[in-house]
Amino acid sequence: MHSVTADDVEQLITSARELIRPHRVGDRLFGDVAAVLLTDAGNSFGGVCIDTASGTGFCAEHSAIAAMVTAGEYRIAAIAAVWQDEQRQLYVLPPCGRCRELIRQVDPGNLDTVVVLGHRRQTLLRDLLPEHEWPQPQQNLSPPPNRGT
Ligand SMILES: [Zn+2]
Repeated sequence: MHSVTADDVEQLITSARELIRPHRVGDRLFGDVAAVLLTDAGNSFGGVCIDTASGTGFCAEHSAIAAMVTAGEYRIAAIAAVWQDEQRQLYVLPPCGRCRELIRQVDPGNLDTVVVLGHRRQTLLRDLLPEHEWPQPQQNLSPPPNRGT
């Protein structure tokens, strides 16, 4: 397990910022959110969002994960996503619910992925994704209702 240092966190934020490259197509904006992840093996992969309509687009984290999987890696030590406003003020974004689930499903060990929430603020994916285990079967305490057969 790659231990994530404060320098790693700064590098993820800096690298992600360098990937931001907003591109407008009609009323849609691509590339304005960027994500970089660090794998357990110490490699990093980045990606940007593609915000196309009708649910056809995807998040920056999704792009970065696709690049990682293309390279044959699955275990994410840390991930950061950033966006900057028109005054170039930088924001570190938490992953959306779909990306939290995507990170988990790529490798169950990713529940221990460090999710960067700011320069000095991180959490583990497991804390952002409670109740992720498949549930236990329920005990039948009473017979099923009589359906009148
Ligand atoms: Zn997302």
